[in-house]
Amino acid sequence: MQYVSDWIASDDLLLLNFSDEVLKVFQSYVQTGSRPESGGILLGTVHDRGILVTKATRPSRFDLKFPYLFDRAPFGHRAIARRQWQISKGTVRYIGEWHTHPQDKPYPSGLDLHEWGRLAACRQDGRSLLSVIVGRNDLYVAMTAADRHQNQLKPYSVSAAIADRC
Ligand SMILES: [Zn+2]
Repeated sequence: MQYVSDWIASDDLLLLNFSDEVLKVFQSYVQTGSRPESGGILLGTVHDRGILVTKATRPSRFDLKFPYLFDRAPFGHRAIARRQWQISKGTVRYIGEWHTHPQDKPYPSGLDLHEWGRLAACRQDGRSLLSVIVGRNDLYVAMTAADRHQNQLKPYSVSAAIADRC
């Protein structure tokens, strides 16, 4: 199962790319059988019209894992985010959150929407929060703004973009 690496916002103003390393982390926690929900934070670099997601933290032993709920303990994830920020001299930053769902095509729960809104609202830099759900066959990718408005991203096809330009 190969997830799509490139995504675009519906207003075409934002491109997002998941690195191979990030996709590998997602794939290693796909919820099949009775595997619990997993999750972590997403780190990367922010550019004019794009976001490169370069790292996804793996669940730590402090996290609570249940089949339908992932509750992330901040300790390990926050330390990794701080370290990445330091070694990249401030270019690799916290981008958002990911977790798995036991659904083929994942869709956010009411609790997810509430939690993303809360996290987006308390970001100090005022940027939107990248919200990712890893399903069995598909990803759900959205940006959540501080006012809780959601902009769902769609898979970006490079061939379509080249055709557009001709
Ligand atoms: Zn969820």
